[in-house]
Amino acid sequence: MIQTHAAIVLRPSPFQEGGLVVSFLTEHGERLVGLAKGAKQPSAKWVSNFEPLGLVNVSFFGKEQVEVRRVTRCELVHSPLVLGHLESNLVVACLADVFDRVAREGVEDPRLFRLLSACARALKAKPDQAMAILAYGEHWLLHCLGVLPHPRLCGLCGNGEAPLVLLTDEHGWRCAACTPVDPREAFPPGAREHLRLLRTCTAEEAPDPEGSPAARAVTRVLRDRLRRELDGPRSYEVLERLLL
Ligand SMILES: [Zn+2]
Repeated sequence: MIQTHAAIVLRPSPFQEGGLVVSFLTEHGERLVGLAKGAKQPSAKWVSNFEPLGLVNVSFFGKEQVEVRRVTRCELVHSPLVLGHLESNLVVACLADVFDRVAREGVEDPRLFRLLSACARALKAKPDQAMAILAYGEHWLLHCLGVLPHPRLCGLCGNGEAPLVLLTDEHGWRCAACTPVDPREAFPPGAREHLRLLRTCTAEEAPDPEGSPAARAVTRVLRDRLRRELDGPRSYEVLERLLL
């Protein structure tokens, strides 16, 4: 049985005899894995179609319940990669890595596909904004995972006016009115405003993650939270070594 999906390539891993095992995020937001035989041989003209975050039309052959289907066809529709743009291409690797860990086989979450394709399009259009697009993706991914409460009200006391000072596992965002914190450990003023921007902008308009002390602090806390949730994706270590 052959099934065809619009999908985004997540992670290609080498497999025996020059093949690749490739994970995809389908348009329905489900993770599917396929074996592309001979994909790494130079003669295979589809090799470039398995780059992370490429939007493809992919056909699988295989029974419903087998673990690895065979990829019979893969056409590239859109690639976010910008030749020679190190920062943007590292962000592509990080996003592919985290979505590969969040998406599940047998579970459909169309929000994941919408979010990742928005990030991929924005990366192609604005590669110089790659770090802003990464922070945007991380923020919404935490939301999809259900671990990021709305920042409008403090999660402990319900105050909507006092500045947010912390993100906690038990109560989410907490405010200065109920939570005494050493000022050196609290968010600088403007955290709620930065979060509001993240919630209302598009991926291409994502605010500068280093644009203010509050933006920097929020970006760091959200990234740490996501990495903890996903058990430390390796791609971030490369990004940090090279850029941060
Ligand atoms: Zn409070």
